Amino acid sequence: MTGPVASNLGQVLARINAATERAGRAPGSAALIAVSKTQPAEAIRAAHAAGQRAFGESYLQEALEKLEQLRDLDIERHFVGRIQSNKTRQIAANFDWVHGLSDPGHARRLSEQRPPDAPPLNVCLQIDLSGEASKSGVDPAGAAELLHACAALPGIRVRGLMTLPAPAEDETAQRQPFMTLRVLRDQLATPEQPLHCLSMGMSDDLEAAILEGATYVRIGTAVFGPRPYT
Ligand SMILES: *Cc1c(COP(=O)(O)O)cnc(C)c1O
Repeated sequence: MTGPVASNLGQVLARINAATERAGRAPGSAALIAVSKTQPAEAIRAAHAAGQRAFGESYLQEALEKLEQLRDLDIERHFVGRIQSNKTRQIAANFDWVHGLSDPGHARRLSEQRPPDAPPLNVCLQIDLSGEASKSGVDPAGAAELLHACAALPGIRVRGLMTLPAPAEDETAQRQPFMTLRVLRDQLATPEQPLHCLSMGMSDDLEAAILEGATYVRIGTAVFGPRPYT
């Protein structure tokens, strides 16, 4: 493991391990998604060479071009961007996971458009805990209805919840929305739909997220450095 991406990756994994231990959780129970949006294919290749397998992308066209260049690699593909109706077919065909589903119409399209020979698309429902109209996600009060609508769709499988809170000052403040998401998950979970996954935490708040039970942290900057554009 040499080069900045490999050493950054090592540092992020050490942060994840330390937080997992601090939380009294099993080693490996919080997994890293390396969010490689806007980063070149070579950066993904470097992280893959250092052992990383799960990668997150937000911009579909850019993602498809890079994935084409990386076809020789076994990559677990996570779509973490905003979903648009006219992009659902390509998302359904090219990704293993979608974080950030909040619209029943998108859910129906992803299910119908999932290739029949592929396993159901794994999805996390995005919950808006900021209450700001500009943020995407469904209100906590609407989560049960969305979950119910998704449960009937054969091409997708709801694996848990995701949130993208506004930045907060310190760890105590950072933990609040993550705790809210965990409590909501506990309320919604059933034996048929255990909702094991909590997709929460980014470069600046991954410790807070892991202390509140994150099973996936989505980390971009701390792995790849600043994004060349946004
Ligand atoms: C960009 C992005 C991330 C990674 O953010 P960093 O602050 O760079 O770690 C995580 N989740 C989502 C949904 C993103 O769009």
